[in-house]
Amino acid sequence: MLATMVWLAGRYEASQVQTRLERDAADAVSDIRTALTHNLQSLQALPADAPGQLAWEVEASELLRIRRELVRIEWRDAHLKLRTHVQSPYRPVAWDMRLRESSQSDLSIACTNARRLGSPAYSTSYFQPHGDGLGSEMMELCVPLTAGGRTTGFLVATYGLQDMLLNLVAHNLTRSQEASFTEPDGTRLAVMGAARRGSRMFTAQHLLDLPGATLVLRMDGWHTAPSVFPNVLTALVTAMSIALVTVMVVLVRDNRRRLRAERDLADALAFRKAMEDSLVTGLRARDLQGRITYVNPAFCEMVGFTPQELLGLSMSAPYWPPERVEEYQQRQAIRFAGTMPPREGFESEFMRKDGTRFPVLIIEAPLINAQGQHTGWMSAFLDISEQRRVEELSRASQERLQATARLATVGEMASLLSHELNQPLAAISSYANGSLNLLEQQAAPALACTSADTSAAPPVPDALDDVRMAMRQIARQAERAGRVIKSVHDFVRRRDQAREAVSAQQLLDAILPLVSLQARKLGVRVFTTVEPGLPSTLCDRTMVEQVLLNLARNAMQAMDDPTVRTRVLDIRVRHAASSQHSDWIEFVVTDQGTGIPTEVAAKLFTPFFTTRPEGMGLGLSMCRTVIEQHGGFLGFAPNSPRGTVFTFTLPASQPDSRP
Ligand code: ADP
Repeated sequence: MLATMVWLAGRYEASQVQTRLERDAADAVSDIRTALTHNLQSLQALPADAPGQLAWEVEASELLRIRRELVRIEWRDAHLKLRTHVQSPYRPVAWDMRLRESSQSDLSIACTNARRLGSPAYSTSYFQPHGDGLGSEMMELCVPLTAGGRTTGFLVATYGLQDMLLNLVAHNLTRSQEASFTEPDGTRLAVMGAARRGSRMFTAQHLLDLPGATLVLRMDGWHTAPSVFPNVLTALVTAMSIALVTVMVVLVRDNRRRLRAERDLADALAFRKAMEDSLVTGLRARDLQGRITYVNPAFCEMVGFTPQELLGLSMSAPYWPPERVEEYQQRQAIRFAGTMPPREGFESEFMRKDGTRFPVLIIEAPLINAQGQHTGWMSAFLDISEQRRVEELSRASQERLQATARLATVGEMASLLSHELNQPLAAISSYANGSLNLLEQQAAPALACTSADTSAAPPVPDALDDVRMAMRQIARQAERAGRVIKSVHDFVRRRDQAREAVSAQQLLDAILPLVSLQARKLGVRVFTTVEPGLPSTLCDRTMVEQVLLNLARNAMQAMDDPTVRTRVLDIRVRHAASSQHSDWIEFVVTDQGTGIPTEVAAKLFTPFFTTRPEGMGLGLSMCRTVIEQHGGFLGFAPNSPRGTVFTFTLPASQPDSRP
């Protein structure tokens, strides 16, 4: 539409130019006509009577001087004979009079016409050389002079076509116009004004029909390319459309930029989201009021709550252990009072949804937005339970290492002691045996003497028996001590112990004298029960005796407490409970003592752990080692209503061999 409008405007403008040119041509023709009529009147006013020839010449000259389009005025008689003439002072023309006088000349044709019509007549134009090599187109006007209805002569006025254009048309022409006289066939006769060859030519032609001659006045005008802005409206519309197109272009560009920015933004967002989601560190953001505004998946996984359950919460979070809520609230209050948290973070304890607690390392920092305003707090969380576990493990292994080192020392000591003690024990044993032999020998002659010499005081037989029994005990215990030391030595040196089949009763019998001694001292009643028909156990007898002794001693010591009223030590031997016909025999040592608190239970078998001031803390750890070396198991459980039950198992020598 806009293009059509501009084109129409261009067309309109062209038609305007054409119309103006037509009007100018019409005006010019009318001007020429008026001037010609005017000239005709002036010519007719010349005093053309015989005596006034001089006056005629004067006036005709005057006329020529004023009317520059006139080149020559002749006064001829009725026979066309030249009476007199005047020439224009402006332009000399070499008239060829012979030619002029010929009956075929334009002049005579015009006059013939004039005579015939009885009124002025014009000739057609003709070319008249000027004599200086140039020439111009001329036209004759023949005015018949009449007196009393008779033609008395003629006035012939010669017009220069070029001068006509120059004097009658020129003043109205614009610089862009060209006026010319042409013949009907288009031949140019006279031209005035040089039309510049513009991009568009406009032409207007007008007929100038004079009596006897017809001329065409042609006007050419040129115009540059039709103005792009012929009027304000078009200019406005064009300006607006240009603005519109510009705005559209800008919009399209802007839109493209926006789309690109959006895409970049979406990419960046997706990248950030992926980063946040793949983090193992928990992230949480809170605003200045303490409301949770953001949690990342790692945090949710850590505490076991969904983001929906956490977002918006402020005063108390579900992952705070209930007993520490107050402490955490205080910490939060301090934070919101503006106190900066420590840069290196702090440790705290959180609770999972299932109630389990876990240690976390929290690193907090103020949340500063793009405008530099403090809008809340950002916290990062690290679950450090694994770290703690590893620390605990390394601490425990460190302790074990130390204990092992000490054990090694103890082992060295034990082997040294056993080496050193062996000799005195052997000495004790041999002295006891020697004494026994002596007593035996003494007893025999004494008896013999009794019959021979009754006066000598006989030794009291009871006392001697007691001494003998004591000596026997000394010898037996010394041997036992020797065996213990040997076993310990072997144990420490990790030599293969001598396994033998021993019945449970034998084991109990071996330790009961020593147990009874301590039991009597502490007021403990001792019960032993051996399940009938038990097979023998295959074991290192001395070491298992030591284990039994140790457990019995521990049990009695546990009951050595003022709060313990019923002091009963119960030792039972039976088939292992899990399988009646198995190859395992179970020893159960039950006491009614103080029991074992949880924290003690955890370290019970740790070497050097003891709660007793005089204790070594090696008893139970050795016991377990001994039992485990036999392939058995040593464990404990609380007794009902009070006390502890220690249980261990030993392999049977011949499974179910006994009836
Ligand atoms: P020690 O006898 O030298 O203290 P043990 O290894 O035999 O070393 O015992 C370690 C600790 O186990 C004891 O100090 C005691 O606190 C505890 N304990 C062992 N047996 C019992 C029991 N029957 N009842 C209560 N506590 C016991």
